[in-house]
Amino acid sequence: IERTLSIIKPDATRRNLTGKIAAKFEEAGLRIVASKRIHLSPAQAGKFYEVHKDRPFYGELVEFMASEPVVVQVLEGENAIAKNREVMGATNPANADEGTIRKEFALSMGENSVHGSDAADTAKEEIAFFFSGLELV
Ligand code: ATP
Ligand code: MG
Repeated sequence: IERTLSIIKPDATRRNLTGKIAAKFEEAGLRIVASKRIHLSPAQAGKFYEVHKDRPFYGELVEFMASEPVVVQVLEGENAIAKNREVMGATNPANADEGTIRKEFALSMGENSVHGSDAADTAKEEIAFFFSGLELV
């Protein structure tokens, strides 16, 4: 059994899509084992996305992620990391498969409604970035 970190991004929380997106995870067999709504500071968003610091979209991404509250969740299930990314769909919603979250809800490449960890090591780091041991059962 595996765990992954999911973020429901500001474009989605703003449009009241938190429940609809969470339902997609649950329908795919992922269990929401931790969940909270937070408002990241630009410094916190910058640290979370540090791997992208040299990419041209970094400034825009950090500003967007700190613009309004997000919902961070830990999802658990068999192959949770891959399954979550499958349900999310491609980064660019124009390339996302039918039925995926990004196909249905994303506004653009940047405002693409969800984040999901991309590998076992990053999932572990990202879960620890947002949740303490006490918050995880
Ligand atoms: P995430 O890491 O959010 O789950 P991802 O792994 O599909 O998404 P990455 O390549 O890791 O995509 O990019 C991280 C985020 O940066 C994307 O989800 C998107 O919000 C933003 N982003 C990526 N490429 C672009 C771009 N060309 N223009 C604007 N924003 C971008
Ligand atoms: Mg990524």
